[in-house]
Amino acid sequence: MKKIVIVGAGPCGILLAHYLLQRDAQYQIEVYERRNDPRQVPLYNSKTIPYGINERGLIPLRRIKGLEEAIKAQCVKNYGLIVHQKNCKTRVFPKKQPTFNTDRISVVMTLLSKLMEKSENGKVKLHFNCKCSHLDFHNKTVTFEKIKETASKEAFTVNYDLLIGADGARSVVRRHLLNTDFFEFEQKYVHACYKTVFLPGSNEKTGIKLKSDCLHVWRPEEGITFGAVPQLNGTFIGLLFFPKNEKKVVGLSSTAEVMDFFHQNMPEVGQLLSEAEAAAFLKRPISTQLKTRCNRYHYGDSVLIMGDAAHAVSSSLGQGCNNAFEDVMVFDSLLDEYADEWAAAVEQFTIRRQPDAYALWELDTNVFPASKTLFLEFMVRESFAKIMNKLFPQFFLPPLREVLSTTALSYAEILKSYQGWISKVKKSNEKLFSLKE
Ligand SMILES: Cc1cc2nc3c(=O)[nH]c(=O)nc-3n(C[C@H](O)[C@H](O)[C@H](O)COP(=O)(O)OP(=O)(O)OC[C@H]3O[C@@H](n4cnc5c(N)ncnc54)[C@H](O)[C@@H]3O)c2cc1C
Repeated sequence: MKKIVIVGAGPCGILLAHYLLQRDAQYQIEVYERRNDPRQVPLYNSKTIPYGINERGLIPLRRIKGLEEAIKAQCVKNYGLIVHQKNCKTRVFPKKQPTFNTDRISVVMTLLSKLMEKSENGKVKLHFNCKCSHLDFHNKTVTFEKIKETASKEAFTVNYDLLIGADGARSVVRRHLLNTDFFEFEQKYVHACYKTVFLPGSNEKTGIKLKSDCLHVWRPEEGITFGAVPQLNGTFIGLLFFPKNEKKVVGLSSTAEVMDFFHQNMPEVGQLLSEAEAAAFLKRPISTQLKTRCNRYHYGDSVLIMGDAAHAVSSSLGQGCNNAFEDVMVFDSLLDEYADEWAAAVEQFTIRRQPDAYALWELDTNVFPASKTLFLEFMVRESFAKIMNKLFPQFFLPPLREVLSTTALSYAEILKSYQGWISKVKKSNEKLFSLKE
């Protein structure tokens, strides 16, 4: 029996274990994750981020019995975008097909519990608190540090026949590929940092209520954006994006200042924010995001990276997890195509996935303009596209946001179709960011 070691039990690593488990080939699957088993961490201790799962991510889930239903059961259907303006007026951008909103922990927990239901005779072995620290491609071994409660570490080494790095944007597996010939890698920090904030959907005292089947967005000034993503229990997970040196956010130093910031800039959010949450917001660390791309996702016949480890993007388009799921499905179909012959399958994975990963890198940075004026133009274009596409579908493309959030069209095709807008935004964003640096 051949042994497959997966590094990382994020959405990509766990979905991959599902796919490998249902293959006829006899594989022994071992998954190693540096964090705790999320099923054993009290929810109030968990850090989470909101997720929107769309058609691109649902198709791979659909191919494993019961997964699509299980994930959808954790989701709220989001039928559009509400942009809140400074004068408290709103603009609504509905869409025909919903995005399914949930959060990372719910996705991971659901995938995990379904995996355990299906893994008879311990065919999949999960190892938590095991951090991958070293790889020896020649001898096909991987070393982990077992992280103990006492914070002490104990190293151990396991062998593999196939190693898959699904260990996220800061992948250790990818780092080891840097030592292999002709491997090229690029990383960029996304201009916007972010902080999460957890909000109820309504406040009886003030009478404010956010529509629970929509994504809500505020753009009080250039560079600062706040998005509130609906959750199944009626609450919202908010994400505040801001440039790394933005004093209005990084300079906040008391609960009162946080309350005041939200009341001034996003009055509706200010009315939902409790003092306790404002205090928690203040303590939460500022998170950064990395974009990465590389020219190869495999090494020889026995190492592969996928998901964020292969091609991380920012959260702006809500594509990373959907794209990671698609990676898994593509790899599975390559195993079908090449009758589980890994050398061919891993090489083809690079060839098939790279054009889309590069296209997503471009889209990710350049769909939304940082300039407020251009953002207004974007919204007008989107509304116009919607009307024209409805009237003359053969001549006019649907709105770009809708194509990204409701279809599984390849990123390369999307980029080609909207190249004019993407080039315009790229020029404007580069100018704006070079002025600010
Ligand atoms: C604020 C925010 C919002 C987002 N919203 C969306 C969205 O709406 N829709 C969407 O599709 N995507 C979204 N994304 C992107 C999404 O989070 C990622 O693309 C997705 O999680 C990628 O999955 P992954 O399994 O490849 O990587 P990860 O989710 O990063 O998982 C990697 C796993 O590997 C583990 N690991 C890392 N290093 C090691 C090591 N050395 N040893 C062992 N284990 C290791 C990590 O602990 C982690 O569990 C968002 C991201 C952010 C930051």
